This record gives sequence, structure tokens and C-alpha cells, in this order.
Amino acid sequence: SAVPATLSGISNLAKRGVLFKGGSYLSNLATIKAVAFDKTGTLTEGKPSVTDTYFVNEEKKEQWIELIVNMEKESNHPLANAILETFSQTTDLQLSVTNEIGKGLVTTYQGNHYQLGKVEDTSQLSTEIQERNTRWMTEGKTVVYLIENDTTVGMIAMMDVPNKAAEGVIHYLRSQGIETTMITGDAKVTGEAVAKKLQIDHVQANVLPENKSFIIKELQKNTGTTVMLGDGINDAPALVQADIGFAMGDGTDIAIDVADAVIMNNDLTKFSYAHRVSKKLNTVVW
Ligand code: ADP
Ligand code: MG
Repeated sequence: SAVPATLSGISNLAKRGVLFKGGSYLSNLATIKAVAFDKTGTLTEGKPSVTDTYFVNEEKKEQWIELIVNMEKESNHPLANAILETFSQTTDLQLSVTNEIGKGLVTTYQGNHYQLGKVEDTSQLSTEIQERNTRWMTEGKTVVYLIENDTTVGMIAMMDVPNKAAEGVIHYLRSQGIETTMITGDAKVTGEAVAKKLQIDHVQANVLPENKSFIIKELQKNTGTTVMLGDGINDAPALVQADIGFAMGDGTDIAIDVADAVIMNNDLTKFSYAHRVSKKLNTVVW
């Protein structure tokens, strides 16, 4: 029987930093046709840093930054960490902040309504802002906007470093005839810039957390057995939907809980290694 080989494969992989929660996931890995990756924290390190800022009014800039810092204090998103590391906070504004998962943050301060995060329809923005927006996104940066009532008053660009092994894994998957897709809540231009660098086949951008699993379903229907790799709370439904869900070891507890396998130290080379082990297992003749 193939069981002992699978078991020794699992224990060998565990020693090398890939934890499989069952033998069937390891043996099925050889049959996959598609791999979907979350962007932030999976294809990238998930530790962005602030690269550019722009505010429409220099005199109000400090006030707005103070507000932004106070809003991000209430979030544990990687973008929040980047902002908090860059701007030292002065006053505690005691804001009540609502977190709209996959979109950003909302609050009210001194009678004004503030939104910090994505803008869906950028065509309404001034040419000044649109030009910066396009330039920054083309560089692969994530752009976050501050909207005061209905006016965009500022923007912050953040850059994340690709996971060291991402390009190699994608190259390996291509050599195996496996289709790769990036799924991100980030903007299309940003996603495409990162995808181009990493040579990913497809990009699904502006995806709301609740729709990530829908994209996995489509891949399963159109391409075949599908793996999802992710790190965040918002990846959990997609990790469950996938035939095999892989969580990044530095990811959130929920992702690790629901995944079928875990990649320690976020070392994506282990994913290719596990695939090779699975192929070997499947070619053993008994
Ligand atoms: P991803 O799928 O890349 O991990 P998310 O779904 O977590 O991204 O977030 C999608 C987008 O929502 C971000 O690119 C950003 O524009 C916005 N966003 C989410 N959380 C925050 C936050 N705390 N501050 C500012 N913007 C945010
Ligand atoms: Mg992520």
C-alpha cells in the first residue's frame, strides 16, 4: 500500500517546514492544475513601507496625518503598521473607528466624515491626484486615500517587497504546466504591476474578501484541481474552498487553522518542494 510512503513523505516535509494535516492533501498535490495566491503577505512580505504622500492643502497636512494615525491605530492591517511606523503620533483623538474589511476605515471627527482606504471610482478625482495615483500604482505601490466628507484630500503610497521565493515558485509552476493567479483586494494597476514582475499568469484585483472563494470555484470549474495560498483572515473562505489550502506560517491564526497545510517561515520554495515530493510518491510502483 502507498500509505507508509505518504506518511514518510509527510514527516520528511514536516522536518523541512511544510506541515500537512493529512496524507490525501500530499498525494493530491501532484494532480493540481491551478494555483491561486493572495498578494499581500503571500506573494509579498506583507511589510509595506510608506514611500510617498500628497495632501491637497499644506496647512492642514499635519492635522490630516494626525487623524490618519489615530484611525490606523484601530486597525491591525499591514498598511496600518506601515503608516504607524512612519508617522509618530502626537495626540490621542479618541476616535470611534469602523473597519470595513477589504475597503478601509471610517470615522467622524469634529463634525466631518472621514474615509481612509480605497476609492472605487478614481475617474472623479482631480487630474493632480489621478496622475500621482497612476504613477504610483504602475510602480506596484498600494495607494490609500483620505476622503473628508466627499473630497479626496490626501493620499499615501506604500510599497511592499516581493516574497524572496515568489518568482522561483511561479517559474517552477509554469514549467509544470500549472496556471497561476493572483487574487488581491488591491487596485488593478497595482496588482498587475506586481504580477508582471513575478510573471504570474492572471490577476484578479479589487476582490472583496467574500469573493475570494468565488474565484477559487471558477478556477476549479474551468481549470481543475486548485490550490490556494494565503495568510489573512480574508483568505480563510478561499483556503477552505480550494482542493488544497496552504497557509503562510507567519499568517493569521484563522488562516492556519482552516488550511490543509502550513508553510513555515513563509518560505515559498517549500511549496515547490512539496509538489515534487508528491509527484515522486505518485510515480512509486508497488
Ligand atoms: P489584500 O487582498 O491585498 O490583502 P485587503 O483586502 O486586506 O488587501 O485590502 C484591500 C484594500 O483595502 C487595500 O489595498 C487598501 O486600499 C484598503 N484597506 C484595507 N485596510 C486598510 C487600512 N487599515 N487602512 C487603509 N486602507 C485599507
Ligand atoms: Mg494577505
